[in-house]
Amino acid sequence: MRTADVVVIGGGVNGASTAFHLTTLGVRDVLLLERRHLAAGATGKSGALVRMHYTNDVESRLALESLKVFRDFGAIVGGECGFEPVGFVQLVGPEYRDALRRNVARQQALGIDTREASLDDVRRLLPGVDLAGVGAAAWEPGSGFADPNATTYAFAEAARRGGATIQTRCEAVRVVVEGGRVTGVETTAGRVATRAVVIAAGAWAPSLLAPLGLDYGLSPFRIQVAIFRWPAGFAQRHPAVIDATRMSWFRPEGAAATLIGVELGAAHADPEKFDEGVDAAYVARCREALTARLPQFADAPMRGGWAGMIMMSPDGRPIIDRLPAAEGLWAMLGDSGTSFKTAPAIGRCLAEWITAGAPSTADLHPFRASRFVEDPPWVDVDHYGGEGLTVSR
Ligand SMILES: Cc1cc2nc3c(=O)[nH]c(=O)nc-3n(C[C@H](O)[C@H](O)[C@H](O)COP(=O)(O)OP(=O)(O)OC[C@H]3O[C@@H](n4cnc5c(N)ncnc54)[C@H](O)[C@@H]3O)c2cc1C
Repeated sequence: MRTADVVVIGGGVNGASTAFHLTTLGVRDVLLLERRHLAAGATGKSGALVRMHYTNDVESRLALESLKVFRDFGAIVGGECGFEPVGFVQLVGPEYRDALRRNVARQQALGIDTREASLDDVRRLLPGVDLAGVGAAAWEPGSGFADPNATTYAFAEAARRGGATIQTRCEAVRVVVEGGRVTGVETTAGRVATRAVVIAAGAWAPSLLAPLGLDYGLSPFRIQVAIFRWPAGFAQRHPAVIDATRMSWFRPEGAAATLIGVELGAAHADPEKFDEGVDAAYVARCREALTARLPQFADAPMRGGWAGMIMMSPDGRPIIDRLPAAEGLWAMLGDSGTSFKTAPAIGRCLAEWITAGAPSTADLHPFRASRFVEDPPWVDVDHYGGEGLTVSR
């Protein structure tokens, strides 16, 4: 029977990051299992915004630790992650001005390069912008976006160089638990004996969790993006933007286009069978949201789009934890459509936990699985529109 020190299930950015970080911490016999190909899940479809602006410190901290990796990816990981520091603008309605100020102050205290931007500043950053309904803004000059596929490939390749085996086209069918601890993983290519498993299976995780008696109320969502070629006369490599007033976000795509997403998408979608293309009605909503801010895009040619499958947790934050169902079981679950930018730190934390008994890069306690049965629920005091409403890319 094949053996491995650690089996990581899922070849998305979080699984690949975890495998890489395990090898950097001295675990040589890491096996990464991916049932299709690398980045086959949410990662391959990600908008991949890399911004620090959250309405809570713990996600901001994960994002900041991850930014350090994106910025210096070649030296830390090797290869390319396609990080483009075009800057990031957060827009909120006037009723959230004070909340934004408090969030910016907290982020500055964490060491994040961010500041409140006046509406005139935003007009300079986004020439031609219409700021109707916007009351305040934050600016992060060093943030931007990355290439989610390149990032994942590079993490996996670096893990392989560090001794890991990357096995694609191989599905983990069941985590084997005996006597209260993990003893192996059954796969479509036979059984692997191991004492440590990380489930990073994205929207497909429930089939591995259910046999262990685990149900965290996770819900798969199909979410989409659309791409518009820049209209004639528009040539700004503009910053990445989250527009909380219109539930939208956008960033440059390629040399002369803008990629935009609006709202959360369709809940309870089927991850085994969903349309990966973009819906015509969704394209129309994207054009409307983009044109509301950048009126030039009324004449922008539509150039495509796609849909991907994320997994929402009940409070819209990921679960990153050692699961109580068995000794030797860790998981990154419920990515909630916001866990690309934090994947370098998430993988690092999980690797630290497995090798050293606790994560040291960041405090993962807020992401514990048990929080859903505890009081009070996780609601950020300084949110921009209530639970489940803030666009979370
Ligand atoms: C349209 C869109 C836009 C987004 N925009 C952003 C953004 O701007 N910024 C941001 O931070 N995040 C964004 N996200 C979210 C982000 O992409 C995800 O949170 C992140 O990629 C999740 O990575 P993951 O590795 O946890 O899961 P996934 O990428 O879903 O990977 C899970 C992998 O596990 C594999 N798998 C599943 N079950 C098994 C099994 N039993 N055996 C073997 N393999 C298995 C799957 O095939 C898949 O490849 C976006 C997502 C989408 C879809």
